[in-house]
Amino acid sequence: MSDNSKNIAERFGSMVFNDKVMKERLPKDVYKALRKTIANGTHLELDVANVVASVMKEWAVEKGATHFTHWFQPMTGVTAEKHDSFIMPDGEGRAIMEFSGKALVKGEPDASSFPSGGLRSTFEARGYTAWDPTSYAFIKDNTLYIPTAFCSYSGEALDKKTPLLRSMEALSRQALRVLRLFGHNDCKRVVSSVGPEQEYFLIDKSMYLKRPDLMYCGRTLFGARPPKGQEMEDHYFGAIKNRVSKFMREVDEELWKLGVYAKTEHNEVAPAQHEIAPIYSESNIATDHNQLIMELLKSVAAKHGLTCLLHEKPFAGINGSGKHVNWSISTDTGINLLEPGDTPFENAQFLLFLVAVIKAVDDYQDLLRVSVASAGNDHRLGANEAPPAIVSIFLGDELTEILNALENDTLYVGKGKTLMEIGATVLPHFPKDTTDRNRTSPFAFTGNKFEFRMLGSAFNIAGPIIVLNTIVADVLKQFTDELEESKDFRVDLSKLIKRTIKEHKRIIFNGNGYDPDWVKEAERRGLSNLKTTPDALPAFIRPKNVEMFVRHNVFSEHEIHSRYEILLENYSKTINIEALTMMDMVNKYVIPAVIAYQNELAQLVLSKKSLGADIPVSLEENLLSKIARLADCLGKRLENLSQQTIAVREIKDKLELARAYREKVCTAMNELRLVVDELELLVSSRHWTLPTYTEILNSV
Ligand code: ADP
Ligand code: MG
Repeated sequence: MSDNSKNIAERFGSMVFNDKVMKERLPKDVYKALRKTIANGTHLELDVANVVASVMKEWAVEKGATHFTHWFQPMTGVTAEKHDSFIMPDGEGRAIMEFSGKALVKGEPDASSFPSGGLRSTFEARGYTAWDPTSYAFIKDNTLYIPTAFCSYSGEALDKKTPLLRSMEALSRQALRVLRLFGHNDCKRVVSSVGPEQEYFLIDKSMYLKRPDLMYCGRTLFGARPPKGQEMEDHYFGAIKNRVSKFMREVDEELWKLGVYAKTEHNEVAPAQHEIAPIYSESNIATDHNQLIMELLKSVAAKHGLTCLLHEKPFAGINGSGKHVNWSISTDTGINLLEPGDTPFENAQFLLFLVAVIKAVDDYQDLLRVSVASAGNDHRLGANEAPPAIVSIFLGDELTEILNALENDTLYVGKGKTLMEIGATVLPHFPKDTTDRNRTSPFAFTGNKFEFRMLGSAFNIAGPIIVLNTIVADVLKQFTDELEESKDFRVDLSKLIKRTIKEHKRIIFNGNGYDPDWVKEAERRGLSNLKTTPDALPAFIRPKNVEMFVRHNVFSEHEIHSRYEILLENYSKTINIEALTMMDMVNKYVIPAVIAYQNELAQLVLSKKSLGADIPVSLEENLLSKIARLADCLGKRLENLSQQTIAVREIKDKLELARAYREKVCTAMNELRLVVDELELLVSSRHWTLPTYTEILNSV
């Protein structure tokens, strides 16, 4: 091992209060009590917490920490933190460093300005944060970060972490029931694991600072197509530029210190686009780590004079950024429940979990769609760069054929003609299907996990994981309720699997998701196609979905309604900010450029004409008249956008408002953009002060 790699091994997790540190530093009984809390989710006694806190503080201070913060994930989608210092007066004019068990396990951020969809105003004004001991504390920027859940005093979740933990519980509970039926009495917990792949853009900071749209909206609101975009596909997996590679190194280093197994980094399809993926971990840890990755991408970029764009669609006409959530479920004894096994019995179990996921995705397509709905993601889904807004499952031809054979009791001809009997024959070994290379499927089985590919790059992954965990838990509950009554397990299991395949195979689609014919075919199959966020969100509050969440104690009815309102508000606010930014930029940059250039041309035409008749002026005149016509249109469309933005303010109903933003304001914005982009192509670069797409995308 080289010195550097030895150092990496030493530095990995060096800023994390992880199991190794706890074991080394905590008194044995305290360590045991804490482990029990972590493993079983039981309550942490205050005397134990006090010892943990004081040891944690000692460790943190040794590492240079002066402050601590309860770190949480409110509904805004970014993480929040409120820093307190460890400093306490000792009563004699000096300061001591203190950190109590109470301060560790519970915090009271003044959080009245976080969105709660009315939860806090109706129940209890204050919210509190509670340590999630299953996610390790860590040090960043001389601050001890304590991962927490954020609740109201009446116990209602105000964040994304609380329901995520609840959904993990629900899934574990139901999956364990299935495992008992198969005789696995040794398992105590089932965990869902997630490996998120994160895409992002990297541009020079100077470009960012010259584009108010990037600064306020995260995406460009104008920008003519560059002469060279991504059509040559020369960026994908291409050599990483020196500056970018230095940036990536530092991101890795920082993440490793925080115990994040950052692994793969490469260029993506679009110019200036990249991807980072850590090795998978348990859902809640993966969620915390993905938040850390997003934060660090931004802060490390700033140190390198760069800006990291996490928006789903920073540039029109150029592929946007997504996030793939690789998801699997496994036992605490290390069995991946989505991995085909070697014995008939294991395979019967695999098939049951597989068809449970198939049924869950089919029954709750609408909820999965809700979980990936946002103003930013509306630009990607169905736009031939990301999966369509229609949810379907890719299984690969081979596995699909096996399910067909099982359903119909026909011979499976893939590998010799065999009649397969559930629980009696072994599944043939089928290779991981590679026909899904084009990545057009929203939900793909990739050998021993599913890959959910509809997320936008800016998402907190908790939302989609909550839905996945809970809908699968729900189907497993239905299955076990039925099978626990069975007199002949093998026969009834077989019937159940066959029936489920028959009833839900419509959700399986192995073809090209970008093909326009798929939209028609999906409609014939009765699959839902919720195109935009306002189309999708009402599905959240459908009675069947509310009942499902309530049944598993993941959300209360009230929590769902408040979240639904927050999502609608977020959507409307986002479009409103974009519209205001757009109008501002047209007034401050576009109109002055257009006027100045027209003036220059008009002056030139006049002076040329005054010199005599035989000097041609057609070039200037034609250009001037073209620009003048566009300028006229620009004024009208700007006025229209302004009126639409004012008109929607009258609408009180939140869903109506979101719809109006999409139908009226978005449409007016798109129309305005078209003229601006045409003008950009005609106006001289001396007058056009906004950096162009070519400049931005080639700035690093
Ligand atoms: P790709 O072929 O899509 O580039 P990889 O096989 O490298 O993907 O995996 C992408 C992500 O999936 C990584 O974060 C990886 O750790 C994660 N992953 C691998 N196996 C599992 C699993 N069993 N459960 C959840 N995530 C997994
Ligand atoms: Mg992948």
